[in-house]
Amino acid sequence: MSRVINNYLAVKRDVEKTCSACGRNPDEVKLLVVSKTIPVPVLMELYDHGIREFAENREPELAMKFDAMPKDIIWHFIGPVQSNKIRKVVKLAHFIHSVDSLDRLERFERIAGEESVKPGIFLEVNVSGEESKGGMTAAELPAVAARAMQCRNLDIRGLMTMAPFEAGIAELEKVFNGLRLLKEEQENTLNCCFPDLSMGMSGDFATAIRCGATVVRVGSKIFEGIGRASQ
Ligand SMILES: *Cc1c(COP(=O)(O)O)cnc(C)c1O
Repeated sequence: MSRVINNYLAVKRDVEKTCSACGRNPDEVKLLVVSKTIPVPVLMELYDHGIREFAENREPELAMKFDAMPKDIIWHFIGPVQSNKIRKVVKLAHFIHSVDSLDRLERFERIAGEESVKPGIFLEVNVSGEESKGGMTAAELPAVAARAMQCRNLDIRGLMTMAPFEAGIAELEKVFNGLRLLKEEQENTLNCCFPDLSMGMSGDFATAIRCGATVVRVGSKIFEGIGRASQ
């Protein structure tokens, strides 16, 4: 079996073992393949193995892969969205993990309506407060979440965050539990249900799962030892 399939299956087993160890049903946690910078032929190996969801963080690369790959793929967008790229992203991606302000939310709502689509939306929160990280502050979230629940052209899935790089377990738990608490607060205040928490990457997905992640976004662990496209 190829290297990338082996890697994928190893991560998948890891996700399942982590779920079992903390009493969660493995079906509750989606392993989302982050395919950014990875060439199409490598992704097609995963496709041929039955994988149908991939995540990209740049619109031109998403557009290129969307055109080059089969049309039954569900694309996730996880990168920062510039205003002038929103229409393109809305046309190609089923899920957007990086809606980080009221202004962006309003634009997605309007453009999704114009394009007659209903993308799944995650509100990205900068829980750690690190300046280099994307996402709205926890203080900004309540107003954005309240507006999100009125958006008829968006399917509000929940919250997303990125933990600081090289954080220890205690710090990771603080960030991931913090996102879960923020989600529960919004659900209580707005009397609604946000089904998903998108958190955890190659280095920290086990901690994220223990803290309640329902989507883990994994790239480098799956593509370890596989040549990246030069760019
Ligand atoms: C690149 C990226 C990931 C995956 O990170 P790895 O450490 O390669 O698993 C997850 N989320 C976002 C937003 C990313 O940009």
